[in-house]
Amino acid sequence: MIKIKDLHKSYQMGKNSLHVLKGINFEVSEGEMVAIMGSSGSGKSTLLNILGILDEPDDGTYTLNHTLIENLNEKVAAKYRNKFLGFVFQSFNLINYKSALENVAMPLYYQRVSRSTRIEKALHYLKKVGLADWASHLPNELSGGQKQRVAIARALASDPKVLLADEPTGALDSKTSYEVMNLIQQINDEGKTILIVTHEEDIARMCKRIVNLKDGVIISDSKVKQVRAKSIEHV
Ligand code: ADP
Ligand code: MG
Repeated sequence: MIKIKDLHKSYQMGKNSLHVLKGINFEVSEGEMVAIMGSSGSGKSTLLNILGILDEPDDGTYTLNHTLIENLNEKVAAKYRNKFLGFVFQSFNLINYKSALENVAMPLYYQRVSRSTRIEKALHYLKKVGLADWASHLPNELSGGQKQRVAIARALASDPKVLLADEPTGALDSKTSYEVMNLIQQINDEGKTILIVTHEEDIARMCKRIVNLKDGVIISDSKVKQVRAKSIEHV
């Protein structure tokens, strides 16, 4: 599903250059649930942004769903993003003046899905995350956990090949984090490929594989026995 080879990325800061990714190699197969771990500043978001076609590497190759992602103009990049990828962020990134339903329906609008189908699909995914009754509510009427569930429904609405989540539980307390992870595990159980950036050990252990980044390289990459969020949601 995802294949990256010898990926490099530097940021130019005036005369100085910061080499953030120094030759990253990995592959992710369909149905995997992978945690990308590392301390703050280790390049996790940089890597996820490249995987999300939001940024480009300086060197190396990235293949997504058998498509080489290289030198794309913004229009084609957006097309691939919409077709292949769903995003979840720490800060939810919901549109404040739109209802939960409208937020979830939004990506479908850009895919020129008809209005009635947009509403039908958005409702389906809101139901899936347990928020059907909250469809007409605005984000500021929802709790943090509910906002993240709306964001997850929005990410799923276009049925992406891969779900990319950057610190999805970073703004949530433990109990709410585990509820959100329980939902993400259920989505993976149904076969969706998921990559989660986190610096929290307990969240990483809810994935099936942990990739550790340090100083721009992968220092470990191993399959782990998945801890089910459900089993510790109530502690
Ligand atoms: P993480 O997500 O692991 O905390 P990031 O990928 O966000 O790390 O950042 C890695 C390093 O690159 C940090 O030192 C950060 O300050 C730097 N960095 C990130 N984005 C930029 C940018 N757009 N311009 C310059 N430096 C950046
Ligand atoms: Mg980050």
